[in-house]
Amino acid sequence: MSNNPVQEKLIERNELISKVEIKNNELNKIKNDIQKLDNWLYSDCKHEWEYHRESSFEMSYYKCKICSCFQSDISKKENN
Ligand SMILES: [Zn+2]
Repeated sequence: MSNNPVQEKLIERNELISKVEIKNNELNKIKNDIQKLDNWLYSDCKHEWEYHRESSFEMSYYKCKICSCFQSDISKKENN
């Protein structure tokens, strides 16, 4: 350890930044796994759509009763 307080704080800060990067990488991997599962569900589920609206302020859409996929997601995927 350095006796320079600024240097010590910088080292501590860099260690924390490194921790954030590791956690972000884990988070991205989990999101990626979820996306893969969503894609699988989308292509393999025999969707049963039902009209869905959270509140009168929300946009209306259709949601699959089986996999909970939203129709807005589907149109997005179809366009890609
Ligand atoms: Zn479905």
